[in-house]
Amino acid sequence: TSFKELGLAAPILSALSDEGYANPTPIQAQAIPHVMAGRDLMGIAQTGTGKTAAFTLPILHNLAAEKGRTPPRQCRVLILSPTRELAGQIADSVRAYSRHMRISVATVFGGVSHGPQAQMLQRGVDVLVATPGRLLDHMATGSLRLDGVKVFVLDEADQMLDMGFIHSIRKLVKVLPKQRQTLFFSATMPKEIAALAADMLDNPERVAV
Ligand code: AMP
Repeated sequence: TSFKELGLAAPILSALSDEGYANPTPIQAQAIPHVMAGRDLMGIAQTGTGKTAAFTLPILHNLAAEKGRTPPRQCRVLILSPTRELAGQIADSVRAYSRHMRISVATVFGGVSHGPQAQMLQRGVDVLVATPGRLLDHMATGSLRLDGVKVFVLDEADQMLDMGFIHSIRKLVKVLPKQRQTLFFSATMPKEIAALAADMLDNPERVAV
């Protein structure tokens, strides 16, 4: 399968050719059609398999296909990552793959001051990449509304568990719209993670590499 055969929109195909990606990796070939179709997804994959593009490309495709040319700039996609470093890498990838689209991408994470992130959120973003603790802070202070979220991605769920974030994630999921697409990634599937996935996902497709 090629990226073109997967049916990705033209601006995404040209970003992929800018990146020099010739063909989808196995997780991409498996996951992209399900995510494009709006299905929930459970992905068992490690970092290095190309999983960031596996969820980002079809999400961007679906945003590009939405009616109306001007992005409404309310947070429509929320990607949760366990660490600041990983959140930064995911945001860089989203920016690269959306470089021919008008999509705004922001990151929020702890360890830096709150104010500039809050100002950026108030200006409005389409795609937000966040770590759990700081995201809850911004919600508590009212700098962020999540009622427009259409797609929620939980990346590295098992690492979230190891870092003690499961309670925060459950709290966060409670305030997300019930009508949404959820994509859940984990390298391993311990009991607690399987239970979290069962609570969050609606009839998911499963892909494993
Ligand atoms: P990830 O597993 O998402 O951390 O991606 C691992 C690395 O693979 C990143 O540096 C990506 O830029 C790269 N990558 C992802 N998909 C492809 C692809 N289809 N072809 C070549 N490189 C890729």
